[in-house]
Amino acid sequence: DPRNGLLAYILEPAKFPSDIVILYNDKAVLVRDAFPKATVHLLLLPRDPLKRDLKPRDALDDQEFLDMVRKEATEAVKLAASELSRLIAPYSDSCKARIAAMECEDPPDELPPGRDFSKEFKVGIHAHPSMNQLHIHIISRDMHSDRLKHRKHYNSFNTDFFIPLEDFPLAQDDVRRQTSYQNANLSKEYKCWRCGKMFGNKFTQLKAHLEEEFKAWRKE
Ligand code: 5GP
Ligand code: ZN
Repeated sequence: DPRNGLLAYILEPAKFPSDIVILYNDKAVLVRDAFPKATVHLLLLPRDPLKRDLKPRDALDDQEFLDMVRKEATEAVKLAASELSRLIAPYSDSCKARIAAMECEDPPDELPPGRDFSKEFKVGIHAHPSMNQLHIHIISRDMHSDRLKHRKHYNSFNTDFFIPLEDFPLAQDDVRRQTSYQNANLSKEYKCWRCGKMFGNKFTQLKAHLEEEFKAWRKE
């Protein structure tokens, strides 16, 4: 079953090259998403056999497990941020300003702060995942990717269909638990993640706009 495609990483992480399985310990495996929907897109896979096959909302209702996942996710975001920094810093005005201040003959006592790349990440799960094993997305906000080809690819990360890890445990009456609500999210009109502009059902126009926003975003 292709829906079990993430299980091999959980069972035998050492079998994969280090550019696919980025790191692992006894609790979790961090892998690169094979079809990244943004500049940096990683998946954190908890290994606990009692949790990994549960629906995310059920697994993450357990506070102790949730705490463990949050701890692993924090480490994963640091790694993802350093990767994003390598890719984006050469274009970033705030990174350039910091480097210029460091390199000048008489550096100021306080350097410009540069850019906190960890703030550029979303960490969370899909309300109704397509893959069976529990996975937490660690994805940069830009949605700039050749692999972004369908409405679901965009809306599953840019509506309430994406549930941030920090929102768990969900209240029993949280509307995001409802399948009908989540199906409606996937068919919503496109909304730019950065400026909020609406694009109706016009995917090609959204893609062109995402290209422009990507350039502006990496320049921040
Ligand atoms: P979800 O189930 O939350 O919608 O997302 C599953 C994610 O797994 C997708 O982002 C997809 O690109 C990714 N994916 C699907 N199959 C594989 C695979 O075999 N290996 C890896 N590394 N990622 C995969
Ligand atoms: Zn925009």
